[in-house]
This record gives sequence, C-alpha cells and structure tokens, in this order.
Amino acid sequence: MRKISIFGATGSIGSNTFDLIRRDKAAYDVVALSGAGNIALLAAQAKEFNAEIAITALPERLDDLRDALSGTSIEVAAGADAIAEAAERKVDWGMSAIVGAAGLRASMALARHGGILALANKESMVCAGDLLLAECAAHGTKMLPVDSEHSALFQAMNGEDAKTLRRLILTATGGPFKDFTTEQMRGVTPEQAVKHPKWNMGQRISIDSASMFNKALEVIEAKYIFACKPSQIEVVVHPEAIVHSMVEYVDHTIIAHMGSPDMRGAIGYALHWPSRAPNPIKPLDFATLGSLSFASPDEARFPALRLARETLSMGGHAGAIFNAAKEAALDAFIAKKIGFLDMADMVEKTLYHPQLESIRDENQSSIAHVLAADAQARALVNAQI
Ligand code: NDP
Ligand code: MG
Repeated sequence: MRKISIFGATGSIGSNTFDLIRRDKAAYDVVALSGAGNIALLAAQAKEFNAEIAITALPERLDDLRDALSGTSIEVAAGADAIAEAAERKVDWGMSAIVGAAGLRASMALARHGGILALANKESMVCAGDLLLAECAAHGTKMLPVDSEHSALFQAMNGEDAKTLRRLILTATGGPFKDFTTEQMRGVTPEQAVKHPKWNMGQRISIDSASMFNKALEVIEAKYIFACKPSQIEVVVHPEAIVHSMVEYVDHTIIAHMGSPDMRGAIGYALHWPSRAPNPIKPLDFATLGSLSFASPDEARFPALRLARETLSMGGHAGAIFNAAKEAALDAFIAKKIGFLDMADMVEKTLYHPQLESIRDENQSSIAHVLAADAQARALVNAQI
C-alpha cells in the first residue's frame, strides 16, 4: 500500500484527487488530510479513508472537527503549525493543494520525504522556487507539477534533451473577460469574475484566471520548474482549453499536450507516474471540436503578464512579494473593497515599493525570509485599502 497525504483535501484539487483514489481504495494508506472551514467534508474524507490525522487550518474549528470525528481513532489538530508538522509524517506520495502561500510549509515538508511531491500549489514555486527545488534535490524527492499547463509541458518533455528546448508555450483560456474593454472590466464583480468558461476550480484561482494573474503565476512557476530563461516562456490565448501547453524544440518541432479540460488528467498523471492508468475523463472527439483558435494576450488590458516578467527579472524575493500583494489585493476585491482593475495597480505599486527594495533583492535563503517578504508585502497592500 502506498502511504499518501493530501493537504488542501477539501478543495477543488483535493476533491478531484479523492475522486481518483476512491476508484482504487485498497492501493492507498492515507496518513494526513488537511482542510480549513469545510469541517464536514474533511471529517467525511478522513472517515472514508481511515486517515491517521485530520487537521483544520482554523484553530477555532478544532472542537467541531473533534466532534465530527468522535468515536474514531483519527487524530485531530488545528492551525498552520499543526499542518506543517503533519506534512513531516512520512509518505510515499504527497499532494500539496492548499490555496495560496499558506501552502508553502506543507510543500517544503513533503519535499523532504524522498518520494513524490505532487505540486498543485503553484504559489510555493512562485514564492520559494529556489528553496523548494533545492529541498527536493537534497532529499531525492521527485516533484511532479499538477498545474495542468506544467503537467502538459512536463509530459511534452518526456525523453527529450532539455538542452534542445527552444520555447515553452503556455496556453490560457483568456477567462470570462477575454473580450471585455478596460472600461467594462472596471465595474465587474467577484460573482462575474469567478465564472470560468472552461475549468471548474476554486474561487481564488478562478478570479486569478479572469485577471490573468493565474497565468502570470504560471509563467514564474514554469521558469523555476523547467529552469529556462524567462524569454523562452510565451503565453498564447486558446479559449477552447484543449491544448494544455506546448514545447518547441530547436528543430522547430512543437509537441502539444491535448485533452479535455479536467484536472483529473494532471492529478492522475502525478498519481501513476511514471506509468499511465485509465481515468474517467471524457475522451476528445476532434470531429466534434471542429477547430481550435489561438491569439496573443493583450497586455494592455491584462497587465499581470508584464508584471510577471518584471518579477522574474528581479529574482530574489520578488516572486513572494508579487504573490503576497496579489493575494491581499484579491482578498480586498472579493470583499468588494476595491475594483477588479485595482488589483494589478496594487501589485505593481507593491512590487516597486521602496520600503521593500532590500528584502526584494535578497536571495531566497530560508522559508522564514520568504515569509517575512510575504508579510511585509501584504501589510503594504492592506495599508492602502
Ligand atoms: P480551493 O479553494 O478549492 O481549496 C483550497 C484548499 O485549501 C481547501 O482544502 C481549503 O480548505 C484549504 N485552505 C484554504 N485556506 C487555507 C489556509 N489558510 N491554510 C490551510 N488550508 C487552507 O482551491 P483549489 O483546489 O482550486 O486550488 C488549490 C491549489 O491548487 C492552488 O494553489 C491553486 O492555484 C492550484 N491549482 C488549482 C487548480 C484547480 O483546478 N482547482 C488548477 C491548477 C492549480 P476549506 O475548503 O476546508 O476551507
Ligand atoms: Mg493552470
């Protein structure tokens, strides 16, 4: 039996992971599961798989979790430290699927097991890519990207010589406001922004897709995972979401990864790697699809992509600052305290804020330093709201 843990078990990625492991229950021995506010689902998952420990991120919900699991032998715990500690429990396969920089400590702990780190939490790579990859290398852990674009790129590089790579082409659907003017975007609500045209995901990543901050994070994520130059990473808008990303080689051959837009593809790949296994995803029918379209992203309407490139050129803790500013601005947008377009303005101001200059330019030396940069960036954004 394979020992596994799932951090962010109650979310969209977590639920899709359960959908897959439920089909072959006898193969998995569940160690730790974490969630936050959805105690009923966390308890149900822990019972179904007889987990060793269930942890909520929210200390004020510990009693609810304890009540929900009373009469079982499942341990309960709460808080960020408890999640980080549970992630140290030895597993063969760990899913990092907490949303936001809050997932960083779990990713780092899972990187120390020498097994497989299935990384959905792109923020870990954006904030601390150097540290996370070094931790994986030091412990012989294989990091498998779960973000669909990066899983696609990883698969398109199977057996290829990395030195012959020419370009990575990340696809983006363009989100619900693909054809909106800047004026139209000014007034959009969180309810409109969350309606992703193709992918069914959590609230925060869906809104990030509408602003293209999600693609911006993915550009930074790709630079770390595939150790390429920022100039080798391109983004193309592909509304059908059938091509999940492409790799071009020096001979101008392009290998594209295609499939239905369903996260169980990338999760299943990480679960069964280096093999492949059948999954419940709808097969593609090209005759029904008819045609696929591609276009350049409009960086004037979606400044997030330009900001991602500027972040990459800064290096150090710029990724942590970029992400934290984005998270704080997103919180304010969801709370209807700022408008949709204000998010990019706030991220830009924070990225270039003179008060953050020294910490921004420091090399990533420890998670404590990354988290300090994160906290300072959030404080600056919150002071403007
Ligand atoms: P969801 O919002 O659906 O789920 C987030 C999970 O994290 C839930 O289990 C939630 O608990 C938990 N959580 C929320 N806040 C905290 C916190 N402060 N500390 C610890 N746990 C917390 O997110 P998604 O599943 O959509 O995304 C998860 C990660 O995967 C993100 O990094 C996202 O960018 C990435 N990703 C997601 C994709 C998708 O298809 N959804 C695609 C590619 C990448 P609870 O629900 O109990 O409150
Ligand atoms: Mg993605």
